[in-house]
Amino acid sequence: MKLRILGCAGSESPGRKAPAFLVDDGLLLDGGTIGAALPQEAQNRITDVLLSHPHHDHVRGLPSFVDNLVVVGRKEPVTIRGSATTLEAVQKHLFNGVIWPDFSRLPCAEAPIIRWQPVAPLVNFQVRDYLVTAFPVKHSVPALAYRLQRDQVSLLYTGDMGPTPELWRSIGTLTTLIVEVSFPDEHAALAQKTGHLTPSLLAQELALLPRLPAQILICHLKPIYEEQIRREIAALQIPGLTILSDAQEFSL
Ligand SMILES: [Zn+2]
Ligand SMILES: [Zn+2]
Repeated sequence: MKLRILGCAGSESPGRKAPAFLVDDGLLLDGGTIGAALPQEAQNRITDVLLSHPHHDHVRGLPSFVDNLVVVGRKEPVTIRGSATTLEAVQKHLFNGVIWPDFSRLPCAEAPIIRWQPVAPLVNFQVRDYLVTAFPVKHSVPALAYRLQRDQVSLLYTGDMGPTPELWRSIGTLTTLIVEVSFPDEHAALAQKTGHLTPSLLAQELALLPRLPAQILICHLKPIYEEQIRREIAALQIPGLTILSDAQEFSL
């Protein structure tokens, strides 16, 4: 499995893009950054998007992406999956004919470029050649983490989440974890209130796993707190941990 980090920041600043993780060129985990990181031919290869939740930083790349696909004349729709509430929110507040056209009726209603596909939590489904399972996580809006499994790889992407003990108890063995840490420990109260993690909260979550994944990839740092979060994470001395940067690539 190939993983390319299109963006991994917890807010926008120069050199820090919104979250989106490209798996094997065709499947996107969240859509915060697409056209700002990928040439058109690479955008054309994306067939599926899994949305963790409808927050702007996780969907903001979608409008230009689907517009680009229509302009180049792609016929095959892109399937955008998420919880029913996430998809409703994105349709109602983003692709609503005001903020942006309704691309589930364009270029024509019979063959639109977007296909919305709601997913239910804790029910396995197939996307391309991955077995996918969605897990509810705590955030300020309903949100899902996604586990992708293929061959020996079991990858979990948490999206945005606050402490969610039940996730770690039900997730099974993971080889790779992409997990957020948005705030430093001094803002633990704010993190809890807004449904995010700090380094210490991450350590508490990981302690609930029977076995640590070999690879723990950290994302969604608020750029203003980046140095502080890096110091606090380093002090935890968690093996196999990497703080992600935009444009990194991994072979899983
Ligand atoms: Zn969020
Ligand atoms: Zn976010």
